[in-house]
Amino acid sequence: MPFFAQPVEKLIEEFAKLPGIGQKTAQRLAFYILNQPKETAEAFAQALLDAKEKVYTCKVCQNLTDSEVCSICSNPARDHGVICVVTEPKDVIAFERTREFNGLYHVLHGTISPLGGVGPDDIRIKELLERVADEEEDVREVILATNPDTEGEATAMYLSRLLRPFDIKITRLAYGMPVGGHLEYVDEVTLMRALEGRHEI
Ligand SMILES: [Zn+2]
Repeated sequence: MPFFAQPVEKLIEEFAKLPGIGQKTAQRLAFYILNQPKETAEAFAQALLDAKEKVYTCKVCQNLTDSEVCSICSNPARDHGVICVVTEPKDVIAFERTREFNGLYHVLHGTISPLGGVGPDDIRIKELLERVADEEEDVREVILATNPDTEGEATAMYLSRLLRPFDIKITRLAYGMPVGGHLEYVDEVTLMRALEGRHEI
């Protein structure tokens, strides 16, 4: 027998599916929404649908965007010869915050994880190779900025093997970044130093 009316139970259930949201928090969020005016709930529901319907992946860098090519890839002031390969869209934001990097990005949308059932074909590796192979793109350097944890390292190694045949510089972020850590939690100065101190692999 459920504790709450069925629609409330359903709302709690949906909130509880979100990452990092436990049952208690889900209940709190559900009751918060119930206590708001109808317009607030409508705006929230609409924002969810808009995000799903109007956000695409940039056809160049695979980052999330609301246009065919994102604002970074379409910016002629950026250095199109340098590609910083990251795991998730939020890593792009971490680099942008440093204001130090003026190249382009490539978002993999995951890391290779044999245990998690994620293979090379499940993330955007093919798209990266196409960019590097495209002579018009004139790529000089690929910075492998996957997280310094086991899966991030394995993915960087795998990518470096695939990229080696191309006549480009392949670099990896310098350490000084917490091993096992995630880029999004690294402060700007540390990330900036890691970028400056990147080394060829
Ligand atoms: Zn882009």
